[in-house]
Amino acid sequence: MKHIYISFVMLLCSTAVWAQVPLKIITSASMFEDMTENLMTDEFTVQSIVPIGGDPHKYKAKPSDARNVQQADLVLVNGLTFEGWITELIENSGTKAKIVRITEGIDVIGSLQYENSSDPHAWMSAANGLIYIENIKNALIELRPSSKEAIEANYETYKAKLVKLDQDIEAEIKKIPVDQRVLITSHDAFQYFGDRYNVRLEAIMGISTEAQAQTSDIIRVTKVIQENKVTAVFIESTINPKMLQQIAKDNKVKIGGELYADSLGDEESSGSTYIDMLWHNTTTIVDALLQKLPLQENSESENKESVPSLTDGLTTTSKIVLASILVLAMLSVLVFKLKKP
Ligand SMILES: [Zn+2]
Repeated sequence: MKHIYISFVMLLCSTAVWAQVPLKIITSASMFEDMTENLMTDEFTVQSIVPIGGDPHKYKAKPSDARNVQQADLVLVNGLTFEGWITELIENSGTKAKIVRITEGIDVIGSLQYENSSDPHAWMSAANGLIYIENIKNALIELRPSSKEAIEANYETYKAKLVKLDQDIEAEIKKIPVDQRVLITSHDAFQYFGDRYNVRLEAIMGISTEAQAQTSDIIRVTKVIQENKVTAVFIESTINPKMLQQIAKDNKVKIGGELYADSLGDEESSGSTYIDMLWHNTTTIVDALLQKLPLQENSESENKESVPSLTDGLTTTSKIVLASILVLAMLSVLVFKLKKP
């Protein structure tokens, strides 16, 4: 009887310890980590493999990533060739975790540049964000059915915020006249955004940042800038801005600001959550294309020259003639004064 009693106590203790160990979730990128954080309870932990500011298209996995994946209970991936390296990482880690593709059910856009290839940037539309969070919610409940109620309550709150965000983005973009709605970025990450909110897109690089831009890409983008009288182009937080800055300089257009596509911004930035990143992008685009932003960088010299002066609008010859008349008038006054007794 004593043995049975001790075994029963040990079983109770081990169950209690097991119940307290949080379930470990790994995501590929920071925006999916934030979505998960909004849905989960304190019975879970979540961590992104690619750090904030990193480029998930060409991330090089570290040994610590393999350890994290190996210890995970659930791995959330975007798929659609976004994080191609993750399949190898998962296989090599020997993890027993459930792997869930959180873009399941999304109406996928094909790549404009590569045939039979999908555009992975589906989260860039808040309407698609709703599908992401539904998939994540279902995966969390499957992992810990006892927390279903709490997870569903979190989901409803977050879902309402995303529905409002989707409506707010649509209303904000509508402030830009349709023919001015041309968004030029470094890489082709805004097709879902453009599709949802009616903005025309043009990027130097394709849907991945792995391929180098060609001269033909620069010619194509330059043509779009000139034909559409584009006033601003946009850099991205995870991509070297050099080429876009050069294009802006050559075409005398402004840098409209920095957008977030493949990563959240850091904690101090205005794009530190999924909701904030989409809203930051929207207001940055609207302000720049409606020319509300202050003149900066390559337009600085134009700004200095634009201070009005009395001689504005005169040719060089006219200025010389004017100066000569002034000198003659001064000389006449001097001669007249000298002649006076
Ligand atoms: Zn991308």
